[in-house]
Amino acid sequence: MTHQTTAGEMTTIKRYPAEIIKFFQDNYPEYPQYSEQLLEFQQSLFDNAAPHTLLAIAHIGNQCSLEIACLEYVRRTYYPEQSIHMVLLGSGHLSLKLEAEFELLPPRLQQVLDDLNSIQWVDILGCQRLKFDDGKLLLDRYAHESTNDFIELCKLSATKIDGWQLSPDVNISEINAEFVQLMASSCQPYANIFLPNQTDKTLLQSRYLQFMTGNSINENSTSTHLQNADIESSIAIIGGGLASVNLALSLAERGKPIEFFCKDNSVAQGASGNKQGGLYPLLTPENDLLSQYFQQAFLFCRQRISSLHQQGFSIAHDFCGVVQSGHEERSTARLQKIVNGNDWPQQILQSISADKANEISGVSIDKDSLYYPLAGWVCPADFARAALNKASVLTEVNTHFNTQIVKLEQTPQGWILHSDNQSYGPYQKVINASGYGLTGFEQTRHLPASLFRGQVSHIPSNNELSKLKTVICAHGYLTPSHNQHHCLGASYIKGAENIHYSELEQQQNKQRMEESYPDREWVNSIDVSEQDARVGVRLVTRDHFPMLGLAPNFEAIQQLEAEQPFKRKQQVADYWQNMPLPVFNGLYILGALGSRGLCSGPLAAEALAAVLCNELPPVSPTLFEKVNPNRLWKRKLIKGRPLN
Ligand SMILES: Cc1cc2nc3c(=O)[nH]c(=O)nc-3n(C[C@H](O)[C@H](O)[C@H](O)COP(=O)(O)OP(=O)(O)OC[C@H]3O[C@@H](n4cnc5c(N)ncnc54)[C@H](O)[C@@H]3O)c2cc1C
Repeated sequence: MTHQTTAGEMTTIKRYPAEIIKFFQDNYPEYPQYSEQLLEFQQSLFDNAAPHTLLAIAHIGNQCSLEIACLEYVRRTYYPEQSIHMVLLGSGHLSLKLEAEFELLPPRLQQVLDDLNSIQWVDILGCQRLKFDDGKLLLDRYAHESTNDFIELCKLSATKIDGWQLSPDVNISEINAEFVQLMASSCQPYANIFLPNQTDKTLLQSRYLQFMTGNSINENSTSTHLQNADIESSIAIIGGGLASVNLALSLAERGKPIEFFCKDNSVAQGASGNKQGGLYPLLTPENDLLSQYFQQAFLFCRQRISSLHQQGFSIAHDFCGVVQSGHEERSTARLQKIVNGNDWPQQILQSISADKANEISGVSIDKDSLYYPLAGWVCPADFARAALNKASVLTEVNTHFNTQIVKLEQTPQGWILHSDNQSYGPYQKVINASGYGLTGFEQTRHLPASLFRGQVSHIPSNNELSKLKTVICAHGYLTPSHNQHHCLGASYIKGAENIHYSELEQQQNKQRMEESYPDREWVNSIDVSEQDARVGVRLVTRDHFPMLGLAPNFEAIQQLEAEQPFKRKQQVADYWQNMPLPVFNGLYILGALGSRGLCSGPLAAEALAAVLCNELPPVSPTLFEKVNPNRLWKRKLIKGRPLN
């Protein structure tokens, strides 16, 4: 077996390292050829792929440790410029005990195992995405209940799978014809299937080949979200907060050159500039798509922060947990409904007694509470700086600070960005991720989102407050001490765009703590008199989903509305249900992150980057419809209500 290195020499890859082979022999004695066959399959994947591309491999089965470890070892050793996107359909259970058997592993293999051993899958619905080695290894795990999300994605996406891999625990008689058809229609013409059992392979392959000659279901793709074209030219991003820098990082991990426009002299001067923000998922009793999105986003964000931090980027944070309690009857009942509404994974949410809440938080909460054990706080400003710095290490990021974009002009050559005294472009792709500035352009001014001003108070730590070990939230939130100060937040004032200090809001921040935790000594010790605070403006949607996708063309939609021929309710509904609403090609929206942007922003950015680069995104098409910036208009039209 030969392999051409980037330097052009031919290398022979004969076998995995002895340590891996021994693991195969010990664990799969019934498949003596397993390691050779797997290596052959993996080699063929790399040989078939164009250089510097992302190889998409779908793995079916609960056992996947060895398969991922081997593939990643081969990639890092022989194809370091290649990237792998591995989709795990199954429990994704990783049990890599290789290091226990060998005292010294080859360093590259050890690195792979360290990465994989750090994985903490959580049984959430939908996709859990993890990234390693600067995004060159991308793992998407769909637990059993969520396989349909992946099927839906394959059906609508133009992106093809390069190979299917089944682990020894898979019973192929349980793979139905519909799924085999999906396997065949969603993959590249050269894609192969790998199974350790050769009899199974012959059986499955004959069924699979029948479908390979059939029509590809992908050709009927209609989703405007998942459409894409030219991906080589520079992508222009307007922003400076968490949305934009996370997009820059996700694109940089894919090697895309970026032009970055920010009206301030550095990043994180807007809503993302706080010293500490709570990072925890927004859950609902029904665990609906909003709640599912937030869990996926929470886990993604957490891994991104940890990974940047481990690489030496300074991000003040502490995943110390969040303790949430009600502050009056209604909110207490709501939290109770959330806890009881679902069998939440322990890592996401636990119901704890009043005593436990006191013990975990370190202060007297004295109420039954909700506990988010993996949650905590992070300094969003540090996070934003780290993400952009890392992006600049990975790709060419051309930053234009002190550059407020005031106008977007669509020309046949692409989009031109205008500041007061200069023009930039044309760009084939422009992403408007400008926080509450999102609606500041002619094309986006109608977007249905509202401004909410917020003031976070910075209060000095003291004997009482320094006991706080977790973020606590009720009506408002309080963070553990960082640099001898705590963040106490936050006011929520509709419409206000000014960012002046408000004494009233400073006092109200304290009052909210007093209402939430009445007569506690530690609350009395909260001192807001230093008048130290930071004000920002959030852009909020009514349904709390972020906005992500092509910018809708409101005027063109109105035109369609005027021409809509039907009167009967059902006909109107059917008409709009199937009608793709007009968009501004090449202009994308990323934002409206509301009050939980720390949590929701990074995954939204990652999903958009995946779409821009023609990859399978970590978000299902149904979820994409939920975040589509046109969704509220579409809903109105379907219900037969006027847009204005
Ligand atoms: C007071 C307060 C407390 C919060 N607390 C939390 C919390 O505890 N947990 C949590 O998860 N979330 C919290 N949030 C929400 C979170 O901070 C936001 O959702 C998130 O930071 C928004 O990021 P963004 O990138 O969309 O916007 P921003 O951070 O506002 O970034 C927008 C950027 O765009 C730039 N820009 C705007 N217009 C233009 C233009 N025309 N040309 C060039 N550049 C432009 C601005 O300079 C700015 O840097 C809080 C928000 C506020 C205001």
